[in-house]
Amino acid sequence: MIRNGDEYRDSIRDGREVWMDGEKVKDVPTHPMFKPIVDIRARIYDMQHDPQTRDDMTYEEDGDRFAIGLKLPRTHQDWHDKRAATDKVMDDAGGVVTRVGDETVGEMWSLYDGQDVLNEVDPQFSENIRNHIDRVITQDPFHVSANTDPKGDRSKAPQDQDPDMLLHVVKETDQGVVVRGAKYETAAPYANQAFTKPTIANWGNSELSDYAVGFICDLGSPGIRMICRTGFAGRAPAEDYPLSNRLDEVDALVVFDNVFVPWENLLFYRHTRAATFIRATLHRYSAFAFVQRILRMADLMIGAALFNVRQTGLDKQPAVQEKLAQLAVYREGIHAHLTAAIATAEKSPGDLLMPNPSLLYSGRVHACTQLPAMAHIARELCGGQICVTPDASSFQHAEIGKWMKKFYSINEDWIAEDRRKLLAFARDLLNSDYAGHRLTFQLFAQSPPFAHLAAVYRNFDWHEPLRCAHKAANLSEAVWSEATASDSSVGQLFGGAAASGKTPASSNA
Ligand SMILES: Cc1cc2nc3c(=O)[nH]c(=O)nc-3n(C[C@H](O)[C@H](O)[C@H](O)COP(=O)(O)OP(=O)(O)OC[C@H]3O[C@@H](n4cnc5c(N)ncnc54)[C@H](O)[C@@H]3O)c2cc1C
Repeated sequence: MIRNGDEYRDSIRDGREVWMDGEKVKDVPTHPMFKPIVDIRARIYDMQHDPQTRDDMTYEEDGDRFAIGLKLPRTHQDWHDKRAATDKVMDDAGGVVTRVGDETVGEMWSLYDGQDVLNEVDPQFSENIRNHIDRVITQDPFHVSANTDPKGDRSKAPQDQDPDMLLHVVKETDQGVVVRGAKYETAAPYANQAFTKPTIANWGNSELSDYAVGFICDLGSPGIRMICRTGFAGRAPAEDYPLSNRLDEVDALVVFDNVFVPWENLLFYRHTRAATFIRATLHRYSAFAFVQRILRMADLMIGAALFNVRQTGLDKQPAVQEKLAQLAVYREGIHAHLTAAIATAEKSPGDLLMPNPSLLYSGRVHACTQLPAMAHIARELCGGQICVTPDASSFQHAEIGKWMKKFYSINEDWIAEDRRKLLAFARDLLNSDYAGHRLTFQLFAQSPPFAHLAAVYRNFDWHEPLRCAHKAANLSEAVWSEATASDSSVGQLFGGAAASGKTPASSNA
């Protein structure tokens, strides 16, 4: 059953405890800092019913309709449909919204692929993940991701400091477990559930740990307290900060103060092998939707820069064209990785279709590492006027407005009001608090850069370059045998790691 916007709004009126700027939020959907993003999430639900968008957002099965974003990917067409649905959402929202469900649900599909590992631990857990995947499809909740603990002093083991620095189990009962700790979670204050799991990369020799716990957290559970960073909406007029006021995705420190988790919501518990598996394969699906958002950011940056240089006649300068071309190369690089990852997608151990992991993870590194440099080129092309232009109230003012019109009108097509709007948009995209936050989001929200590179290292097929170099340099058979035998990584472990699930953990988030 697909939900509509009002059903979603009602679902987060569940008595949850949310704090913003030192005050307890009475009603999340109408709070001024949440309302714009809740409205966008609600609109995504409504798009599933809207005759204009319904076919892009949903598919039909046995006479019922379900969300395309939540569908288990089994075919190339599934991925094309997902990509198109996400683009529709961003078109409708007029900007980038990332943590709206389709970008996080894929983390569960990774665990679905790990059912063999879960079966070794306890078959109940593989049944739980199947049930939760069915539940997401049939009940259409808003699902987010919880990985990152406050962690505290990294040089100490969790047991040697306040143990709550990493989320852990403190009690087991017949009905489930009780957990304590905290996680950083974008969108949790206005979502329904979060796939909650450890970021711990190295479990040493421990086979069992109270910290190795993964579960679906009902965000309305008693004992959860969400303490939000301040929102960007409502801080300054929407005309001057159009993105901050509509698209801010609020993050929170989600505190678990003895929260009960029923057995049916536990996806793994105590066995570090299961925790290791999910850490190593977490983003094999969800990276696609994450990187797709960066493609949209690239389009918005190119559009803002190009409008500005066309407006001012600078696009005729070869040096300006070169900078635009650099932006285009960046954009096309992301597009190529996404397209190729689907074209060469592979069957997963769970019989799903996963985007080619090496291409997808390499695309994520390309998109994330180059983003600050590309934002800087776009900022440069927009010129210094994006940060010195007075706000809308000056343009509309009875006394000084005439000066604004005079100096911001370029010709009959580009009148002052459009130039003001373009500069305000570019400022909010590239220069504002919101812009800085978005850049940091892309840096960290799907794990930090070193973990992105570690994912490439684990999934690239090292066999082929070795084969080429071995042949070209005419190396001995002994070298080849040694390389392929002693380094189990070659071809088999690294190249096939994602599919086999044998990857050693070296990740974080
Ligand atoms: C805007 C935003 C939204 C977020 N949303 C979510 C969310 O929805 N869900 C969620 O779970 N998390 C979320 N996060 C948290 C994010 O996953 C973490 O910030 C990220 O994993 C890094 O962890 P940390 O901040 O504790 O940095 P730290 O662990 O303190 O690391 C800081 C830096 O130290 C270096 N470093 C640390 N460890 C290593 C290592 N082993 N090897 C090499 N270098 C290392 C790296 O340079 C790293 O970037 C969000 C973060 C941001 C900024």
